[in-house]
Amino acid sequence: MLTYKNPKAKPCGVCERLFVPVRLMMVVCSPACAMKKVRQAKVQERAKIKTRKEAIKTIPDLIKEAQREFNGYIRARDAAQPCICCGRPLGDAPVGGAYDAGHYRSTGSASHLRFNEDNCHAQRKDCNRYGAGRAVDYRIGLVSRIGLAAVEALESDNAPHKWTREELIQIRDTYRAKFKALKSNSKPEGQA
Ligand SMILES: [Zn+2]
Ligand SMILES: [Zn+2]
Repeated sequence: MLTYKNPKAKPCGVCERLFVPVRLMMVVCSPACAMKKVRQAKVQERAKIKTRKEAIKTIPDLIKEAQREFNGYIRARDAAQPCICCGRPLGDAPVGGAYDAGHYRSTGSASHLRFNEDNCHAQRKDCNRYGAGRAVDYRIGLVSRIGLAAVEALESDNAPHKWTREELIQIRDTYRAKFKALKSNSKPEGQA
């Protein structure tokens, strides 16, 4: 145990080890800690910028971001399924954007169900966009996929919901993570 204490010694700003500064204003004990401090400052600055960017987003901005992540997850979840309303293959192009995440009850008229997984399924673009969602056929497909009780639960759910910033950020980040987890699990064997 060291009892002697140099009165000029002070704790390093990074590793907290006591050191004696050779220059005034010296706050770290070593070049290694100085480099660490620079890296920490950069990380903190990036976090600050991210927080600031997040803070100026409006609720509609956040709804858009959360919807993008949610829809991306739905498309990945249903990638191996046929179109919900007509049973045809989803699309010919090999990328995720080749087909839509189509809502049974639309985001416009039932915004409270816009992030409900039962209410949203992969759908061909022509069915979703040019067939007005093909509601009757969608319902038939939906009943066979999630069951009548779940469909009726969607149809009778009319409690409006006001999305908050915190909810939307959480939904966005949750579905981003769910999408990633799905993608990393669905890679064919033998591929990195
Ligand atoms: Zn140090
Ligand atoms: Zn269809």
